[in-house]
Amino acid sequence: MKALLRIFLLLLVAVVVLAGVVVARAVTVTSKQAAVATVTKMDLDLDAAVQRLSKAVTFKTISFQDPAQSDASQFEGLHAFMEQSYPKVHATLKRETVSTHSLLYTWSGSDAALKPILLVAHQDVVPVVPGSESKWEQDAFSGVVKDGFIWGRGTIDDKISVFGILEAVEKLIAEGKQPKRTVLLFFGHDEEIGGRHGALEGAKLLASRGVKVEFVLDEGGAIVSKAMPGVAAPVATIGVAEKGYMTVKLTALADGGHSSQPPRDSAIALLAKAIVRLNDHQMPGGISGLTADMLDHIGPEMSFGLKAVVANRWLFSPLLERQFAGSPVMNAFMRTTTAPTIISGGSKDNVLPPEASVSVNFRILPGDTIGGVLDHIKEVVADERVKIEPNLETALEASKVSPSSGTDFDLIARSVREVAPGVVTTPYLVLGGTDARHFEPVSDNIYRFLPMTIESDDLKRMHGTNERIGVEAYGTAIRFYHRLIENAAM
Ligand SMILES: [Zn+2]
Repeated sequence: MKALLRIFLLLLVAVVVLAGVVVARAVTVTSKQAAVATVTKMDLDLDAAVQRLSKAVTFKTISFQDPAQSDASQFEGLHAFMEQSYPKVHATLKRETVSTHSLLYTWSGSDAALKPILLVAHQDVVPVVPGSESKWEQDAFSGVVKDGFIWGRGTIDDKISVFGILEAVEKLIAEGKQPKRTVLLFFGHDEEIGGRHGALEGAKLLASRGVKVEFVLDEGGAIVSKAMPGVAAPVATIGVAEKGYMTVKLTALADGGHSSQPPRDSAIALLAKAIVRLNDHQMPGGISGLTADMLDHIGPEMSFGLKAVVANRWLFSPLLERQFAGSPVMNAFMRTTTAPTIISGGSKDNVLPPEASVSVNFRILPGDTIGGVLDHIKEVVADERVKIEPNLETALEASKVSPSSGTDFDLIARSVREVAPGVVTTPYLVLGGTDARHFEPVSDNIYRFLPMTIESDDLKRMHGTNERIGVEAYGTAIRFYHRLIENAAM
């Protein structure tokens, strides 16, 4: 009896000590948010700026996989409109055309010893999915301003950025400001199909001139409200890396023939097994690297209970990882993802097809590699009757990871908090692709962040239907670019 009591007491002490450690860690965790002084809000004729963005949407600068479908007159129209709308920019900055419709602007700084900064955005947009036109509340290329929003393709991705930057520079020139540090602007024309003519050529041009850039800022994260449970403030996600990309075609080969006497392993059955195996054996992952970094930035701003969990990952990591794995977004932050996207096989209901195939799209986590993913597929599929062919033409390794602290990251984070007080800033991993990676040869500090305030639900409208951006959100974007250039270059 005495021994039992002793064990019980020991256990009780252990629980109390553990709880004490958990609470102590939660209480002592310190915020990573930059302290900022109040900055006078830049005055802005927002209505006029909104009208310009609205007009910009009406140019159908769609980039198609098949270049023959692209309409040069839409880009030319947009360029003429930019010239007419921003006379000071066009009188002060040097403008060069890169690969037909990409634009490189140079605003020369007075101190040649300082490395330039480079702001990147793209003029092109994705098409409207055929058949979805009627689901748009406003025509996709109308640029209608209604209910406090600017509607249409490109309002989020990425004309808001092209025009927000131009508004900011026009304003700075009007204020008589002169940069010490050169400010470069690059507006690509084919980001949505990989940027191989625009950004890639732009980066080559800069490299050929020996230009080294202090930092690059392209689209990527945003200021997202209701981003995370337990965080009341909007979260500004500043992309410091982006995932890689690879599509692998699996083809199962078997004897064809009459479907009245099927073999045990028909091509379709073999293929299905391979798909299920890949689905059940995902690439390994977990809370490490950038995901851990993100939690370290957001955790201290969470409500107490969640803060305690995040601050005590030595104890709660398995629990968190299980939770995250259930969320497609959080899962994508933790590992290289596996997504079967196209399947084909067979043409007649009473004939066994001699082959069946599937395309599986992998988004590669920094730290994983194309070669590593291929090894994983071979090991998991483990069947010689299934051919494995990567599309190496479109494959991309994950980007380099830029520093998530230090001068440039801190400058961007501080500029966000100056124009959007109270916002929580964090480094993060961009799950999609951007033009930013093409600029790796000219800078080690590549950031992906578009300073628009948006609800997490509205992000679905990007590349989807009813793309729109709030009028006030556009104001914040312009103010951010204005402040960022002041902070970085003036
Ligand atoms: Zn984009």
